[in-house]
Amino acid sequence: MSANDFRVAIAGGGIGGMATALALANHGIASEVYERREAFPEEGAGIQIGPNGTRILQRLGVAEFLQAHAATPDVLSVRDGKTGRELTRLPLGTWIAERHGAPYWTAHRRDLHVALRARAEANPLIDLRTGIEIASFVTEPDGITATGTRGETLKASALVCADGLWSNLRNKIAPGASPQPAGKVAFRCVIPAGDLAPEFTPNAVHIWLAPGAHVVHYPVNAGRDIALVVIADDTMRERGWDTSASAATVHEKVRDYAPPLQALIATANDWRCWSLYRMPPLERLSTGRATLLGDAAHPVLPFLAQGAVLALEDAITLAAALTDRRSDVEASLQNYEQARRPRARRVVEASQRNGRIYHMAGATALARNTTMRLAPPARVMAGFDWLYGWRL
Ligand SMILES: Cc1cc2nc3c(=O)[nH]c(=O)nc-3n(C[C@H](O)[C@H](O)[C@H](O)COP(=O)(O)OP(=O)(O)OC[C@H]3O[C@@H](n4cnc5c(N)ncnc54)[C@H](O)[C@@H]3O)c2cc1C
Repeated sequence: MSANDFRVAIAGGGIGGMATALALANHGIASEVYERREAFPEEGAGIQIGPNGTRILQRLGVAEFLQAHAATPDVLSVRDGKTGRELTRLPLGTWIAERHGAPYWTAHRRDLHVALRARAEANPLIDLRTGIEIASFVTEPDGITATGTRGETLKASALVCADGLWSNLRNKIAPGASPQPAGKVAFRCVIPAGDLAPEFTPNAVHIWLAPGAHVVHYPVNAGRDIALVVIADDTMRERGWDTSASAATVHEKVRDYAPPLQALIATANDWRCWSLYRMPPLERLSTGRATLLGDAAHPVLPFLAQGAVLALEDAITLAAALTDRRSDVEASLQNYEQARRPRARRVVEASQRNGRIYHMAGATALARNTTMRLAPPARVMAGFDWLYGWRL
């Protein structure tokens, strides 16, 4: 394959795969995105996109598509779940946009995916192919050959495995690594914003903390709807993103919560749930001309709302690395991996730590609440500069 034929195959047309194709196209590199599903489903619920993610969406030309569907919450209000008392009110809105040069958005995952796809479909350097599941690959001296489950053979200069949490290609790169249950389940539902009691600031991210469970709700669909998330200890092990859950199960998880939150939860009926998984950091992300990206490389628990954003960061880092060393793909993948592994590890660990703090009980929870009440909000947010201030 000559330098003029340089093109990248991407396995997985989720958030990471689409963003990678767009980032490569920004550098003039052609790609083919192979998505195993025949069509893109509407599954999923809310997703938060911090400034480190929206800055990338601006760069990819996606922000202008998503803006009309996203919300820009003014504050993050943290409450004690049992008493309902507000512990702190952290600035988002213009404060965080000015600090980091990009906004903090909340959106429906579907809207983020639709915006990425719209940009990708309009780009002549990107070829989207659905209904093709990549099963294997072999690195050759002049390229890489990937094989689909129905015997399709695809040739490219490099292969990006953006095939999500349950990546089957990961086994070719990091044999034996697999997600382990975190012992928690996320229950999700989207309700009309009109169902939110007037006492709650509508344009805010709300977090309610209680032992073994927390609840998050925030605006999506340009503020017309509210995404409700209950994350609680649970032994269920589901692999899908669209398992239905009974309202009674969710009510049971929040039975000790303050009445206003219980009332809010009671307005929701159409609950979906998925089990949370974690995975120890991989020893390597690449082999030959293939590399892992997004959840396939480093699944992250949702306690820092960074799953989609890490995939966006990966995408622009990989595209820049491939552009710098197009003539030596294996070296460029090593550069990508060296840049991403420490960053992803830090975010994954910070998420786990946040989860422990959110679900504290007894005296430690009381100490947490006191600390939150006393800490100056702007100083708390400055502690996340390393996260939201990320730039390539
Ligand atoms: C349908 C769906 C709904 C989701 N909803 C939410 C949500 O509401 N909130 C949230 O926080 N996170 C959600 N997630 C997860 C979130 O998108 C990811 O954690 C994050 O965006 C990282 O993106 P990713 O591209 O690495 O993985 P994903 O977004 O999971 O994308 C992986 C893609 O690869 C495809 N794929 C898998 N194997 C192959 C293969 N061998 N060949 C070709 N294609 C393959 C999958 O069908 C999928 O489209 C959802 C994921 C999916 C797939």
